[in-house]
Amino acid sequence: MAWDDALWRRIAERGVHDAIARWTDEQAIEATERFGAHNYHPLPVNIVRAKGARAWDAQGKEYLDCVGAYSAVAHGHLAEALVREAKAQLERSTLVSRAFYTPEMALFVQALAEYSGLDAVCPMNTGAEAVETCIKLARKWAYTVKGVPEDRAEIVVCENNFHGRTTTIVGFSTEERYRRFFGPFAPGFRIVPFGDAEALEAAVTPNTAAFLAEPIQAEAGVIVPPDGYLAQVRQVCSRHRVLLVWDEVQTGFCRTGRRFAWNHEDARPDLMAVGKALGGGLLPVSAAVGTREAMAVFQPGDHGSTFGGNPLACAVAVAAVAVMEAEDYAGRAERSGAFLRTAFLRAGGGSIQEIRGKGLLLGVEFVPELPAERLQEAFLRHGLLTKEARRRTFRFAPPIATEQAELEEIAERFESAVRSVAGTM
Ligand SMILES: *Cc1c(COP(=O)(O)O)cnc(C)c1O
Repeated sequence: MAWDDALWRRIAERGVHDAIARWTDEQAIEATERFGAHNYHPLPVNIVRAKGARAWDAQGKEYLDCVGAYSAVAHGHLAEALVREAKAQLERSTLVSRAFYTPEMALFVQALAEYSGLDAVCPMNTGAEAVETCIKLARKWAYTVKGVPEDRAEIVVCENNFHGRTTTIVGFSTEERYRRFFGPFAPGFRIVPFGDAEALEAAVTPNTAAFLAEPIQAEAGVIVPPDGYLAQVRQVCSRHRVLLVWDEVQTGFCRTGRRFAWNHEDARPDLMAVGKALGGGLLPVSAAVGTREAMAVFQPGDHGSTFGGNPLACAVAVAAVAVMEAEDYAGRAERSGAFLRTAFLRAGGGSIQEIRGKGLLLGVEFVPELPAERLQEAFLRHGLLTKEARRRTFRFAPPIATEQAELEEIAERFESAVRSVAGTM
């Protein structure tokens, strides 16, 4: 659209939606491509509205959302209880900085410590910041508590990890696309295969500060480690006085059928990173959560974030966790995931290589004969939002609040989409 002084005034007076109300899907996509950085390759769907498990484009085409903003939308879009909480907080205060105390943050840190079964909480905004916070805590713990010589601490991580996009984090990614041309990278990381506790033990040295891993590797294609791995890793870490750091940013808050994925085994961490669903699908809220011993190394000035722990984020996050508890999200995720897994296998027949995952975090890997691009196009055409992860695997992680009738609709659309591709082979 042509931009001039009148337009600024008009937006200021009549609002954003007055300006974009007549945009077609194509116009929105074109402006995004022209003025936006091309660090994503979105599917050709322009979502103008979303509610519960559904989303709509400007033409009124309706979709069931099985991406759920990568598990960040657990409560469904615009969950009423959370919108109400946000509106109430908008009448009080939203942003005061950590220069002061607020009752909302007081409630948040206590609620999250209680919910996690851990002792203390450092509020942040995004998942990557929560992981960075854990890395800083682990290193400082290594130097000041374990006695590792300064600047020699090592953190063991896994192949095919995904922990976010900061320069430190992509530095220990094994995905060439995430790293290339972004170096030089921070030293101090060792990479071992995922799912192999012996490899972890072999990589530990006297300078090892921590082991950092996802309990299920979601971005890698929903890779579930062998049964017993989480508990074995806990034992290895305890044996060698190494901090266990779980990245629960995507798997946390009931997504896998437990409060946290580590709750499937005896694998309580010393530190964990949480985010995504903690914001109730309304705004970014993350945190590093840990034991008293690990968190105690932070002193005033060691770490911070302007927006971390703001009253709006804290109020929404506490309400989000309360809804998960009151409405048994863990049980719902387990039951809904089991339903979809069975329905997909029945519908997909010989087209499906494997379904991986736990709870309502499912990765459906198709046989190599079915072209991923055609599947992707068919899912959209049949009204299902899903996106290919690595390994011809499509992610199905609808909101945990998705109703049974909607799950049945997801299964029906899945069947029609897969048949439309498989039937023409
Ligand atoms: C999404 C994700 C992150 C990064 O979170 P952002 O909010 O995008 O920074 C980190 N770890 C895991 C496991 C994730 O899925």
